[in-house]
Amino acid sequence: MADDVFHYDVLIVGGGNAACSAAHAALEKTKSVGIIEKAPKRDRGGNSAMTGHIRFVFNGIEDLRPLVRNMSDDELRKLLEGGLPHRTEAEVWDELMRVTNNQTDEELLHVHVTESLNTVQWLASKGHDWVPASLTNDNVLTMNGGGAGLQKRNFEILDRTGATFHYETAATELIEDKTGRVTGVRALTPSGYVMFHAKAVILACGGFEANAEMRARYLGPGWDSVHVRGVPYNTGDGLRMAMNIGALPHGSWSTCHASPQDIALPKFTVPSVHVHGDSLNRYMYPYGILVNMKGERFIDEVYDTRGRTYASMGRAIMAQPGGIAIQILDAKIRERDMYTANYRKATTAKADTLEQLAVELGLPVENFVNTVRAFNAAVQPGNYNPDRHNLDGKSTAGIVPPKSNYALEIDKGPFEAWPVRCGITFTFGGLKINATTGQVQHVAGRPIPGLYAAGEMVGGLFVGAYASGAGMMSGATFGRVAGNAAGAAAVAS
Ligand SMILES: Cc1cc2nc3c(=O)[nH]c(=O)nc-3n(C[C@H](O)[C@H](O)[C@H](O)COP(=O)(O)OP(=O)(O)OC[C@H]3O[C@@H](n4cnc5c(N)ncnc54)[C@H](O)[C@@H]3O)c2cc1C
Repeated sequence: MADDVFHYDVLIVGGGNAACSAAHAALEKTKSVGIIEKAPKRDRGGNSAMTGHIRFVFNGIEDLRPLVRNMSDDELRKLLEGGLPHRTEAEVWDELMRVTNNQTDEELLHVHVTESLNTVQWLASKGHDWVPASLTNDNVLTMNGGGAGLQKRNFEILDRTGATFHYETAATELIEDKTGRVTGVRALTPSGYVMFHAKAVILACGGFEANAEMRARYLGPGWDSVHVRGVPYNTGDGLRMAMNIGALPHGSWSTCHASPQDIALPKFTVPSVHVHGDSLNRYMYPYGILVNMKGERFIDEVYDTRGRTYASMGRAIMAQPGGIAIQILDAKIRERDMYTANYRKATTAKADTLEQLAVELGLPVENFVNTVRAFNAAVQPGNYNPDRHNLDGKSTAGIVPPKSNYALEIDKGPFEAWPVRCGITFTFGGLKINATTGQVQHVAGRPIPGLYAAGEMVGGLFVGAYASGAGMMSGATFGRVAGNAAGAAAVAS
């Protein structure tokens, strides 16, 4: 039987990237840091453990140098010649404004943009490092070992620097004193309820993507049955607990990150099984066309670069009959060697003619063939350049929906098809925080003493869509912000 009362200066709820970043920062102020994690140890790490990329500001190789080991300046320079010589603060600001239709919270965005490079360099100082990203992703560097590598290092570093982990421990309720100060958390373990008393509590326990009731309530009809591209543990507990004591909801509660996934995506994925959590991603749609089960196109496949469209593409797929879409590519794409490694184990169909492909997929043959012919006839001449960082303007004309970039005729067999479904990754609705301290705001218009939030729990940054790698960056940045402020406040009290 475990002890049933614990005391920490700073208690962190959740064990993902945001929580670990908060813990690193809090440990710079106090050695008394506890972390409670709902998952068993074998599945620790949250969604963060299944990621690949983190999107940060850099101005040239001098900013990347502290992040990579064993790479010469020449090798680094070559990486940047691949099309992304910098990603400035202004560019990251404009990009998030653009993908969110100018609805992102500017105070959060300011911190996200101005602190991202500082934050990755701070993570490097803790022991993390970066390697070149795959040629299909629009980030230049990726965490060494992806999210799995990042989280493995995080746990090693935190064990070494003195944080205490409690696994299979799910926070269920926030404890307040008479003044409205949060003084701890009640949590459920396999052997019963446990009390955690703390001078400051940081909630970093994810969104509500794994809670069918909350998905239906906030995202809308049909979302209760969507498959989750992520852990089953993020059931909105932190949001519910905080709102129960008056925390102010903020941001877009009706939109989420949802992307095209292999039709075989299970109901949930967990780090111990899906070591490379993104192996079910099906992100080749910009290079062909997307049709529904009626054999009809339904969306402009390249209204922006892949890194800026994939997180909202899942919603468009969910709206199709049966929630299914088919990615169609022709032999030219294979000949150009453009397939990502993920597609090696994908669910697929292949045929020499469009008619045979339609039969194999159960599509209405005439409709499908007419769709492809109309698409081919609409393709305009131009310079085809499917660059991961840029659009080429090679488009269709006279069809609805158009394809605004990378438009190439689907005319060379064998034709290949990839059935996909929507997988929800995380929800965008969250809590209102003070952007420079991470402190959670009360509906009464004042901060809640002793309560901080980070990661997916922060509302306001992402609305409708987002840019690849921004989730991990936001988690690390606001985790660090919250850890700093909570650690300082705990020590001062
Ligand atoms: C397969 C996949 C690939 C992705 N790829 C990328 C990418 O390349 N780049 C990117 O930026 N983003 C990516 N994302 C999104 C990214 O995972 C999130 O933006 C990020 O991980 C959020 O971090 P977090 O710490 O807030 O949440 P998480 O990492 O999900 O951590 C939340 C933790 O809280 C725990 N928890 C939940 N409820 C409780 C409770 N009641 N008590 C205690 N603990 C609790 C959970 O078990 C979990 O460990 C990907 C997501 C998935 C699933």
